[in-house]
Amino acid sequence: MAKLAETYGTPLYVISEDTFRDRARGFREAFESAFSRVGTEVSVYFAGKSFLTPEVVRWVREEGLNLDTASGGEMACGLRGGMDPARMALHGNNKSAAEITRALDAGVGRIVVDSLPEIELVGRLARTLGVTAPVMLRVTPGVHAETHDFIATAHEDQKFGMSLAPARATDAQAADALADDSSVSTQDVADGSAAAELPSAAMRAVSACVAHPNIDLQGIHCHIGSQIFAAEGFAQAAERVLTFMAEVREKFGVQLPQLDLGGGYGIAYTEADTPRPAQEIADALAQAVQGTCRLLDFPVPHLSFEPGRAIVGPAGITLYTVGTLKAVTVEPGQARRYVSVDGGMSDNPRPVLYGADYSVVVADAKGGLSTGDPVFSRVVGKHCESGDIVVNTTYLPSDLTAGDLLAVPATGAYCWALSSNYNWLPRPTVVAVRTVDGEGQSRVIVRGETEDDLFARMSVEPADSPDVPGS
Ligand SMILES: *Cc1c(COP(=O)(O)O)cnc(C)c1O
Repeated sequence: MAKLAETYGTPLYVISEDTFRDRARGFREAFESAFSRVGTEVSVYFAGKSFLTPEVVRWVREEGLNLDTASGGEMACGLRGGMDPARMALHGNNKSAAEITRALDAGVGRIVVDSLPEIELVGRLARTLGVTAPVMLRVTPGVHAETHDFIATAHEDQKFGMSLAPARATDAQAADALADDSSVSTQDVADGSAAAELPSAAMRAVSACVAHPNIDLQGIHCHIGSQIFAAEGFAQAAERVLTFMAEVREKFGVQLPQLDLGGGYGIAYTEADTPRPAQEIADALAQAVQGTCRLLDFPVPHLSFEPGRAIVGPAGITLYTVGTLKAVTVEPGQARRYVSVDGGMSDNPRPVLYGADYSVVVADAKGGLSTGDPVFSRVVGKHCESGDIVVNTTYLPSDLTAGDLLAVPATGAYCWALSSNYNWLPRPTVVAVRTVDGEGQSRVIVRGETEDDLFARMSVEPADSPDVPGS
């Protein structure tokens, strides 16, 4: 670590290519084996938004995974990284016509449609191009999972997906839909008697897809949250979506062949986190899917999963150099030592955004050999925000000094991807490490920004231009 810091400087993102590949392959194999036992196949999509560069795309495709993208930019990165477009998916609750056109042109394997207006847009663009759009519908099954727990509700109040819950006549959105549904009279809507008959947004979306000659509806997608440990939330979502797929079969005579259960598998940021092995989750899910399909007399569909964090999160660490040390009295007799490092919320905004917790270790020669007593500490960044925390609560040796090296593990996902230039800090270098013939190798996969990079896109008046008179 000390050598990497010396070679590349700090802050530094270090990604282990070996860990990334092991976890990607491990995930794919765990889900493939679990679902082959219930007689179906599985596709694993790496959720590119967690960390994506063309080099990462290469690892993803070489390990036999597909790629999830959430914008034209991520799609472009996948294409530059040599990903077969047929193995890519395009997500997003507000895709532009340009993004959809690009996906259709490139032959992206699935467009995950998120709203009724988007179905119209995709259908219209596909017709213009003379192609058929491969579409998955994103639904909200009323299951939200949050780390240790999940809650199941009937209704949804969020921007993603289309609800499985029956619409009520009082819903403004439903009323809109009724305007062009001649089977429901205005009178029925007005007196509420049509309430029980109103199809869910998801069912209306299926209807719109089935009716469109340029849309090939392949299946249903859901994604219930992130950093989830237990399988129950996923299983419950799977049951609800499969039930919906059986309803679709009954109503339209269409047996959708694909079910995508999204990502969200949790990782260990601190000792308090207890992620389950991928195999355990895969087995539990395969059981749940098989059980529900039996009950519904529905053939087990082709399954897809979209892990991001669980693959790249544990593969990354961030190295920082210690700067200012400051002792602050928390309450009488209790002090906290603030340890400032040379990065912070610009390279890892997760603590600021979500109150995310991390751990930290001393990473140079002193690490482990330190004779200093543990001191109650908080690691903070160098930004002009008091919430600019890197590690909220930790113990670091009393003999820690400026110039020492700290390593924060599990920063592979949603750190570089969410990084900014706040306070005009240049984004750090990303270096990939791997072991070849027992030898550790490192190479830059993203060059760190320079001051010139920061100014390259800005208009800069020549220094000899006149100042505003009077100033
Ligand atoms: C963010 C996201 C994922 C990945 O979530 P992780 O928590 O990183 O596994 C997968 N699918 C969709 C649709 C997402 O929005």
